[in-house]
Amino acid sequence: MADKVPKKTIGQKNNNTSNTIRSMLFILVLICFGAFLISTFNKSGTQKTEVPLSDVIRRANDPNGDIAKITVTGQNLDITLKGKDQPTETSRKDGSGTLYEQGLVNHCIDLEGEELKKCEEQYPKIEYKEDSNVWGIVLDVALTVLPLIAVVIFFSWVMRQAASANNQSMAFGKSRARLYGPDKKKVTFKDVAGNESAKQDLTEIVDFLKNPKKYEKLGAKIPRGVLLAGDPGTGKTLMARAVAGEADVPFFSISGSEFAEMFVGVGASRVRDLFSKAKKNAPSIIFIDEIDAVAHKRDARGGAGREDEQTLNQILVEMDGFDNDSGVIVMAATNRVDMLDKALLRPGRFDRHVNVTLPERKDRLEILKVHFKGKPVDANVDLEALAKKTAGSSGADLANIANEAAITAAREGHKTISNHDVTEAFERVAIGPERKSKVMNEKERKITAYHEAGHAVVGHVLPDSDPVHKVTIIPRGSTGGVTWFLPPEDRSYKNIYELKDILARAMGGRMAEKLIFGADAITTGASADLKNVAELAKSMIVEEGMGANLRNIVFPGEETGYYTITTGKPYSEKTAEVIDAEIKKLSDEAAKRAEDVLKANKAVLDKLAEELLAHETLEETELEPILKSAKLPTIAKLH
Ligand code: ADP
Ligand code: MG
Ligand code: ZN
Repeated sequence: MADKVPKKTIGQKNNNTSNTIRSMLFILVLICFGAFLISTFNKSGTQKTEVPLSDVIRRANDPNGDIAKITVTGQNLDITLKGKDQPTETSRKDGSGTLYEQGLVNHCIDLEGEELKKCEEQYPKIEYKEDSNVWGIVLDVALTVLPLIAVVIFFSWVMRQAASANNQSMAFGKSRARLYGPDKKKVTFKDVAGNESAKQDLTEIVDFLKNPKKYEKLGAKIPRGVLLAGDPGTGKTLMARAVAGEADVPFFSISGSEFAEMFVGVGASRVRDLFSKAKKNAPSIIFIDEIDAVAHKRDARGGAGREDEQTLNQILVEMDGFDNDSGVIVMAATNRVDMLDKALLRPGRFDRHVNVTLPERKDRLEILKVHFKGKPVDANVDLEALAKKTAGSSGADLANIANEAAITAAREGHKTISNHDVTEAFERVAIGPERKSKVMNEKERKITAYHEAGHAVVGHVLPDSDPVHKVTIIPRGSTGGVTWFLPPEDRSYKNIYELKDILARAMGGRMAEKLIFGADAITTGASADLKNVAELAKSMIVEEGMGANLRNIVFPGEETGYYTITTGKPYSEKTAEVIDAEIKKLSDEAAKRAEDVLKANKAVLDKLAEELLAHETLEETELEPILKSAKLPTIAKLH
């Protein structure tokens, strides 16, 4: 990554500054200490007792009091007692008003002759002396002001120390914020396949960065914050870099998760630094990746930490402080818009939303083409077929498949990437690598064959299930075998019948084992299936409102912040029981339907298992003749 800022220089500069400050601080401490010594010496040198001012005033106003004379010098009162010729006591005036206002009244003022003499025998003579002791004043000032200065300097020194420590050891701020300047390999919209609507939205941003004047002249409000929202791996980061590449402006990026590992206060100062750098290099783009890591709802349960909150606040402050013509656009990416603090989405902040979606079939083909470009591929490699069977995959998954295909080809010693390498890469990415070395005894192979055949037969027979694409009993990843179903086309929605068929075909494996080997012989091989059933059934009830008794009702909690106190969930204890019952009902129904289908098609099940034991893997064309005689029993019909 291009790093525009020479780290060393910054670190040393800060070091020099802090050295100067340190010696200044040392001298100050010496001065303070000296001043303190002199002043105490000054006072104790004449051995006067210090008495409180209120006491002095009380005694001075008493006609029979013991004070003969009070000499006021600046803040100091020297008290000479009757019958003494030297002051033996001392007191200090405090800051609140004059001595007169505080009650030290000169009783003998305006008196003359005998009267004055008599008065002075009773009340003290009060003398105000010019404060000729310059050192005394200096000391007074020094003692009050210097500690303050020292404290201020000390704190700023500590702050700088912390900042420069971060600069060196943590690669703080300046050195960590990454800059993809024009010298970095440029990413443009050409590198981002598909996602046409998102690209269209962003073209406007690019245009603004290129010709800000055009917009200013028309008085258009320039967007400040653009939020890219979409599933992981859909190309949000790529898209943000492409915007910078298209506009040919510097790109400053930081990831929300990086803030999490920072010391207190560092997140906020990193944000400050990032923004100031971007402003200096305007027009430019600031990109905050995974912004949900710092900007999750402050009031959500578990709440944002204080540190995150500071970082988030700093982002908001910086964005609010932008001039309309600052020429800096802030982009951010998140997988979870619903989790973001609402303050972030207000006008003037991230008010532009661009949705980056999972690619459709034709987009998947485009992405595959981008990533297979420049790789030597056999003529028979069918990217269209691959695009077809990768419904639900993200751009990152597809990039991964392309890369795995090249790796597989290299490992197998091929000169070019074959169709088999591509298929292998797809399955590896989807499930995990084949484990041919894993030993399975004959009994286990037979169980696996029936298990997979069970999935296949149920899936094939049920009317709302996708067609079976491939069945294998070669272990892969953590599974003993795999049955692939092919989504015939991309769809945005699934209806309840399709979901119930998915549940039933997932149960097909376990039910086949039960049917063939007996209820006591069921194995651990179905745990993943059962987990999938549980998860899907739960989301059907809790998220989709598909329960028989909980139809059209869901229980949002996270978004609304609504939780009942007793359960800590957004529903009551009673509803929790209903939900559990609904989930059980769905999975019981699925198991029953799978069993009914298999019982009605036992001959097909046997035949398929036998073929699997013989060939291990069966493709669509080989499955077709075996499965075509299977029938849907009326009992398993839903509609
Ligand atoms: P996100 O930020 O949404 O999680 P990324 O931008 O990090 O996703 O994508 C990861 C990788 O996946 C990219 O580097 C790129 O190789 C690939 N990729 C994702 N989407 C696309 C796309 N639309 N076109 C081309 N490649 C893509
Ligand atoms: Mg990303
Ligand atoms: Zn299974």
